[in-house]
Amino acid sequence: MAGLMPEGWALPAVDQFNGPFFTSGKLTLQQCAACETVQHPPEEVCHVCLGMEFKARETSGFGVIYSFVVVHHPVAPSLKDTVPYAVVLVSLDDEPSARVLGNVLNRPPGELAIGQRVRAVFEQIVDPETGETLYFPEWETID
Ligand SMILES: [Zn+2]
Repeated sequence: MAGLMPEGWALPAVDQFNGPFFTSGKLTLQQCAACETVQHPPEEVCHVCLGMEFKARETSGFGVIYSFVVVHHPVAPSLKDTVPYAVVLVSLDDEPSARVLGNVLNRPPGELAIGQRVRAVFEQIVDPETGETLYFPEWETID
C-alpha cells in the first residue's frame, strides 16, 4: 500500500529490538520475557523490571485514535506535496497502554476525531542498503 513516505526517506536501522516491529508485516510489539510487560517503541531495557530479554507480541492491529495533530508545514522539502496530513497516536485494542504513531491513509485530516476506530495497514519499502523488506504501520478508519 502506498503511504505518505516520500521516495528516499531515511529508513530505520533494524536491530534485534525493533526487528519484529519493522519486518513482520503485522503490528508486533515488544514484550518483556521476564515480566510480560508490553512496551512501545521497542527499547533495549524493560521499563518495569530492567529485563533485557524480549519476545514478539503480535496484536490484532485494531484500535482507536487516542490523539492526533494535523501537520500544515512541510518539515522537509520532500513533504511539500503531502501537507496537510494527520499524525495519529493509536491506542491498541489488545494493549491500550501501547500507543503507535502513524498516518491515516483513507480520510483527510478534517474528518478525523479522537476515539475513531482504525486498523493498521502496512506500507512496504525495500531497504536499498540491506535488501530487506520493511513494513511501516499506517492507519485506516473503519467507521
Ligand atoms: Zn520486564
